[in-house]
Amino acid sequence: MESWDVVIVGAGYGGLSAGALLARGGKKVLVLERDNIIGGRARTLKHKGQVLDDGAHMISRAGHIEATFEDLGLDLPELITMPKSEIYHEGEWKEPTDLFTTDMYKKVFSIMMGLSREEIAQLDDVPLKKWVESVSDDPGIRMLFFYLGCATSVGNRFETYSTGEMIYILREIVESGRKLSQLGAVIARGSNNILDPLAEYINSHGGEVRLNAPVDSVEISQGRAVGVNVEVGERLFHSQVMDVETIKADSVIVTLPLWDVFKILDESAFPRWWVDWVNWISGKVSHAWSIIYALDEPLFDLGAFRWAPNLPESGFSGVFFPFPTYGDEVNQYQFHVSYQGHYDEMPNLFRGDQASVRREIRETIDMLERESVALFPALKGEYHWRMAHAGVYGIAQSPGFVSHKRPSMRPPAADNLFLVSNTVSEARGVSTQGVVKCARMAADAILGA
Ligand SMILES: Cc1cc2nc3c(=O)[nH]c(=O)nc-3n(C[C@H](O)[C@H](O)[C@H](O)COP(=O)(O)OP(=O)(O)OC[C@H]3O[C@@H](n4cnc5c(N)ncnc54)[C@H](O)[C@@H]3O)c2cc1C
Repeated sequence: MESWDVVIVGAGYGGLSAGALLARGGKKVLVLERDNIIGGRARTLKHKGQVLDDGAHMISRAGHIEATFEDLGLDLPELITMPKSEIYHEGEWKEPTDLFTTDMYKKVFSIMMGLSREEIAQLDDVPLKKWVESVSDDPGIRMLFFYLGCATSVGNRFETYSTGEMIYILREIVESGRKLSQLGAVIARGSNNILDPLAEYINSHGGEVRLNAPVDSVEISQGRAVGVNVEVGERLFHSQVMDVETIKADSVIVTLPLWDVFKILDESAFPRWWVDWVNWISGKVSHAWSIIYALDEPLFDLGAFRWAPNLPESGFSGVFFPFPTYGDEVNQYQFHVSYQGHYDEMPNLFRGDQASVRREIRETIDMLERESVALFPALKGEYHWRMAHAGVYGIAQSPGFVSHKRPSMRPPAADNLFLVSNTVSEARGVSTQGVVKCARMAADAILGA
C-alpha cells in the first residue's frame, strides 16, 4: 500500500504552502488535487490572450507568503503595490489627502496601536460603525476608519464588519514593518506565479503534487487519521460507485473550506457539538462579486484603486481597479469591479443549482453593472469581453463569526489531522495570507517545532 509521511488534500494556497514547508523539513509529502490544475479558489487561467485570475487577484502584505518564500530560499514573484487610491465622496473621486489630514492619520493610528490584544478581542463582536461612532465625533476621522475598513476587507460594509478583525489586520501589516499605504499588492502575471514555485518545490524535494486525484474520504481509526481513500478509475455514469484505494499517512492535512469538509470527513468520527458548530458557521459566508472587463485603455491610473463606500443603488462598498499586469499578448487591460456581499441578504450561492437562485445571481450582477456604468460610463459596451463572477469568499468577517467563534485547525477526535483553510480561527487576517499563516502553523506542529 502506498504510504507517505503527510498527505495533503487540495493544491491551493494552503495545501501547497504547507506541502513545501514540510518537504523542506524532510517530510515525504503527497498533495492530492481533485482538479486537473493547481490553485483551487485562486487558480490562474489563460483567456483570449490574457492571464486571468479566477479568485484571488491581490494579496495583503501581512508577510506570511513572503516569510514562506524566504524560508524555502525562493525568490518572491513580482508584486505590484498599488500606492494610489481614490474615494468616491459626495459625487466626486477624491484622493485621501483631499479628505484626511496628517493629524487624522496620527489620531487613528494612535487609537489602533494603543489597544491591547485583549481589547482588540473584545471588539471582535462590535460592528465597525458602532465602535467608530463611540471613539470619535469628528466626521473626518470616522470616514478614515470606514475607508480603512473598506480597504482591509475588499469592500465589506461598516455595519457588517467586525472592528476587532479590521484592527487585527491593520496591526499585523504595520507590525510586519509596512506602512498603511502598502496594505495590498497585485501578483504580476497571476496567482500561479506564487503557487507554481511552491508546487515545483514539493516535486523536487521528494514529494509529489498529483492532479486528477479526488479524495473520497479521510480514514480515521481510534482517534487518528491513518490515511485517505482516493477514487480510482474513470467515472462514466453519474450513478457510478467509484472504487477507492487507501493511501497511508502519518499525518493528514485537509484544505477544503469548512463548508465542504464533511464531503470527505465522516461526521460520525467527531463529537456532535463540533459537527454542529462547523455546519452552523459554514452558512455565515461572505460573497465575492466581480466583473472583469477587457479594455483597450485603463480607465484611470494603473497603480490606483478606487473605492465607493456606498454605491448609489445597493449601498454596498465597491472596489474598482485597472489591472496593470495582464494583456501581455493582446495589448489590452483588465478593469475589475468588485464588492463583497453578505450571506443574509444575497442569493444563496450554495444553491446555484436552483433556477430561482441563478436568476437572483444574474439580477445582482445586473445591479453591479448598472452601478459601475453610472460611475464609469465608458464601460457601457466599450469592451472586448466581460466576465462576471459570484463566488463564496470565506466566512463573513462580521461580529459573531471571527477569531475564536470559528473552529480551530485542530479538530477534536484526531490529533494528527489538520484543517488548513482560510475559514478556521488560526487563519485570521486577509484570505490568502491568512491561510498561509495557518499552513505555517500546521507545518510547524507536524515538524515538532
Ligand atoms: C471571486 C473571489 C475573489 C477572491 N479575491 C481574493 C483576493 O483578491 N485576495 C485574497 O487574499 N483572497 C481572495 N479570495 C479568497 C481566496 O481565493 C481564498 O481564500 C484562497 O484561495 C483559499 O485557499 P485554500 O488553499 O484555503 O483553499 P482552496 O483554494 O479552496 O483549495 C482547496 C483545494 O482542494 C481541492 N479539493 C476539493 N475537494 C477535493 C477532494 N475531494 N479531493 C482532492 N482535492 C479536493 C480543490 O479543488 C482546491 O484546489 C477570493 C475568492 C473568490 C471566490
